[in-house]
Amino acid sequence: MSNPVFDNGEFARNRRTLQGELKLADLPRIGGEVLAATPIGYALAGGIDRLQRPTLDLALNGELQLKCQRCLKPVSFELDVATRFTLFADEARMNAAEADDEDLEGLLFEHEFALIGLIEDEILLSLPYAPAHDACEAGDGAAADAVATPQKPNPFAVLADLKGKLKRGEH
Ligand SMILES: [Zn+2]
Repeated sequence: MSNPVFDNGEFARNRRTLQGELKLADLPRIGGEVLAATPIGYALAGGIDRLQRPTLDLALNGELQLKCQRCLKPVSFELDVATRFTLFADEARMNAAEADDEDLEGLLFEHEFALIGLIEDEILLSLPYAPAHDACEAGDGAAADAVATPQKPNPFAVLADLKGKLKRGEH
């Protein structure tokens, strides 16, 4: 089941669970940001919180390849998301609850809730703003830098050359 659609209120109240794996092709909205990915594991668990509100716990994990903003080569990103969503009947109640508790993530009840859309949102929110290697490998980017920088003679090479000349002068 690569595109699950279900009643999210019924799912939560019956404490249902669902898990599986998604390929990048199943997640069209993240395709522009992500070059490649291992299958992305997802797990969804319904529940009821201490205020008797239905909840959905979503966990995602996988390894994504993003484009490094410095050298434009792939850089690995570990996707590790765990978010609890609390379900509400209308936006007014959801907004009030979110105003009371800044950690609360609200969702509206939907009879035909598309899990893929929520998973795409969570992945997009978790991506770094400007992905980059800690230290880019020498490659096309580094070569371009080297061309732009005027070549200075290596001081040790200069010294060795000088020593050679002095030696030749002694003979
Ligand atoms: Zn890089």
